[in-house]
Amino acid sequence: MACIFCEISSGNAPASFVYKDKDVFGIMSLEQPNPYKVLIIPHAHVENIYELNDDLAASVFQATTKVARAIRDASNCEGLNIVQSNGKAGQQDVFHFHLHILPRFFDDKIIFDWDNKPANREILDSLAKEIRESFL
Ligand SMILES: [Zn+2]
Repeated sequence: MACIFCEISSGNAPASFVYKDKDVFGIMSLEQPNPYKVLIIPHAHVENIYELNDDLAASVFQATTKVARAIRDASNCEGLNIVQSNGKAGQQDVFHFHLHILPRFFDDKIIFDWDNKPANREILDSLAKEIRESFL
């Protein structure tokens, strides 16, 4: 099955571009929970964050900061979220890495809702140790 972001990257599917460089492009999201929501996408078909190499990760975030400033200036937003999803459990919908830039307004009624379960220092230290030991 063709990948929609690869099709857009190669010019075979339409999109409303806001940014393009040799590694990354930015397009208007088809879903606009707030106006000016943009997707940042690498041209290369990289499925998720785990497959981004250091250079591409740098390019993605450099483009993200540029586009975030432009969205702020264009929209006069009062805040901004970066959302990036990986895997079905993480609610990834298109399996070509993409990052959402969502401008926010005080009265926009968008809620990121999760239970903030406090953890004690012993648990935090144990989890931190597991993560440190997982670096390759
Ligand atoms: Zn793709």
